Amino acid sequence: MNRVAVVTGGTRGIGRAVCEQLKADGFNVVANYAGNDKAAQECAEESGISCYKFDVGDHQAVLEGCQQIHDEIGPIEVVVNNAGITRDGTLTKMSYEDWHEVMRINLGGCFNMAKACFPGMREREWGRIVNIGSINGQAGQYGQVNYAAAKSGIHGFTKALAQEGARSGVTVNAIAPGYIDTDMVAAVPQGVLDKIIAKIPVGRLGQASEIARGVSFLCSEEAGFITGSTMSINGGQHMY
Ligand code: NDP
Repeated sequence: MNRVAVVTGGTRGIGRAVCEQLKADGFNVVANYAGNDKAAQECAEESGISCYKFDVGDHQAVLEGCQQIHDEIGPIEVVVNNAGITRDGTLTKMSYEDWHEVMRINLGGCFNMAKACFPGMREREWGRIVNIGSINGQAGQYGQVNYAAAKSGIHGFTKALAQEGARSGVTVNAIAPGYIDTDMVAAVPQGVLDKIIAKIPVGRLGQASEIARGVSFLCSEEAGFITGSTMSINGGQHMY
């Protein structure tokens, strides 16, 4: 039976590309999403992927959603924590709600999904967790103290959880994308985007499929010796 892979925020952008790649790799793929039913319907119809709506920032909703997936599809063996939002603004203009909402969804979502799925992975002695961080969590970004803090937190979360899973065949890794051509980046004003692209050595935005190929490798059998690592896929924009 094919392993079940759950991709949070899997109905659009990077998550959708990850779903399609993992499906091509032979996983039984489930996409989670927050509220855009139209995108979920398109994802289900065009790619044949099962879609489950729950808020990854809501602890109880995640526990119930993952239990439902377990009961209807099978035990969850791969989790790609991809769901994320932005609520940008300089610190002086950022509300507490904008701070908290980004932490709740972007970082809290990883904790909630791990609480639901990691114990079962350890019991079955196989699992893959891939957390989608960001170049802006590595390098910081003007106007994004909430997003940069949450994404930076994902990288620490990854290294800590990797140590808890290592003896049980569960790997935990992160991918730090640079600027990728999705709805999230389409929301950036063109003038700002032009300046960003000028700083990318390869001279273009990344494609969602290029992140998906990285996720695919980290979820493979062959990547069993890679854990606690961060793979940067950013066109050379940030190197360290
Ligand atoms: P999109 O905005 O295109 O898609 C976001 C997806 O996440 C949607 O499926 C959305 O569901 C889902 N989502 C949002 N909030 C929640 C929630 N509370 N619970 C469940 N699902 C939720 O994002 P991208 O594809 O651009 O980004 C994907 C990830 O990659 C994010 O974590 C982002 O921070 C990260 N990233 C993106 C970069 C980029 O340049 N695009 C660069 C670096 C990192 P719905 O459709 O229902 O709203």
